[in-house]
Amino acid sequence: MNDCLFCKIVKGEIPSTKVYENEWVYAFLDIDPQAPFHAIVIPKEHIKSAAEINGENSFLVAKVFEAVAEIAKQENLQKGFRVVNNCGEDGGQTVGHIHFHLLARRNLSWPPG
Ligand code: 5GP
Ligand code: ZN
Repeated sequence: MNDCLFCKIVKGEIPSTKVYENEWVYAFLDIDPQAPFHAIVIPKEHIKSAAEINGENSFLVAKVFEAVAEIAKQENLQKGFRVVNNCGEDGGQTVGHIHFHLLARRNLSWPPG
């Protein structure tokens, strides 16, 4: 049994506001947005975190970034955006399915907290 929240979102068992989808990737609006545009971009395949990326599954990270570029065009993010991956406890990861935050439409501070 797979109890993963984001796997359930991919399967449509939990509703989400879809931003983009293709064979490998699903993207949806974050429920608690940290910027005027805040999407979560994930591979459909369950991978726990960035620490689990290897030679077999790394193409899915490339697919995520291809999707990010498509979403940026679709959503007119020509002023720029930020992609964030939180990994593990110290990285602030709260959902155990690798995901990339796509934040835009405000000036994002650097360095992050
Ligand atoms: P993390 O903190 O693991 O990097 O990011 C998890 C993100 O998932 C958070 O920004 C949180 O707001 C978002 N999130 C958690 N549960 C849900 C949900 O049920 N639906 C949506 N759309 N986003 C969620
Ligand atoms: Zn999952």
